[in-house]
Amino acid sequence: MKLTILGPWGAYPAAESASASYLIQTESVNVLLDCGSGALAQLQRHLPLEELDAVVLTHYHTDHIADVYCLQHAAMILMQLGRRTKPIEIYAHDADPAAFSTLAYGEYMHSHVIAVGDTLTLGDLTWTFGHTTHPVPCLSMRIEHGEQVLVFTADTAWNDDLVRIGRNADLLLCESNLYNEYFGKIGGHLTAGEAGKLASQCGAKRLVLTHLPQYGDLAQLVREAQETYEGPIDLARTGDQYRL
Ligand SMILES: [Zn+2]
Ligand SMILES: [Zn+2]
Repeated sequence: MKLTILGPWGAYPAAESASASYLIQTESVNVLLDCGSGALAQLQRHLPLEELDAVVLTHYHTDHIADVYCLQHAAMILMQLGRRTKPIEIYAHDADPAAFSTLAYGEYMHSHVIAVGDTLTLGDLTWTFGHTTHPVPCLSMRIEHGEQVLVFTADTAWNDDLVRIGRNADLLLCESNLYNEYFGKIGGHLTAGEAGKLASQCGAKRLVLTHLPQYGDLAQLVREAQETYEGPIDLARTGDQYRL
């Protein structure tokens, strides 16, 4: 399984980057995990749009879905040109039925409901979902490829279910939208210290901090996570790849 960071930013993208979006690939499947602003431009640096099989969404905040609607047009045009022969399959929860209803796009994009308790098989990947604590419904995700486990917290404040979904992760891709000084002051997101604590409680082998803030010294996030986690810690960077 290969993870490519397409968009490490929360809220809105930095120049030459994207907000929340990640490419997950195996020999058998290419999946986009979240599809934020700038995702399609970054995706095409790594994969022709003709070869994208599926999209899985954590929730409907704009920084995670903005490019879904451009992707619908890409799928349409590529199918009309004969360069794609099948629709893009898109998976998301339907706790917001109005938002869910915008995902399907004729014969070009087919939508499917996912929920906590479901098991989703995409190629040789197995996905399961967990609870988050966020202002809107949002799913955390555990992605297994054989023995290898990638876990994405999505957007969330501390929530004990994160420890269940993240257990023994080979790579914990963890939101870290807040510096420690904001602990208890801003809801719906994790501080870097909490990201480290989560990695420790999960027994994660590697922690990658993502959904980064546009302010402050990002290296401070790493230092704060190091106070609560002894394993390797990276800041997610646009274009970085991990093989697991
Ligand atoms: Zn977000
Ligand atoms: Zn959000």
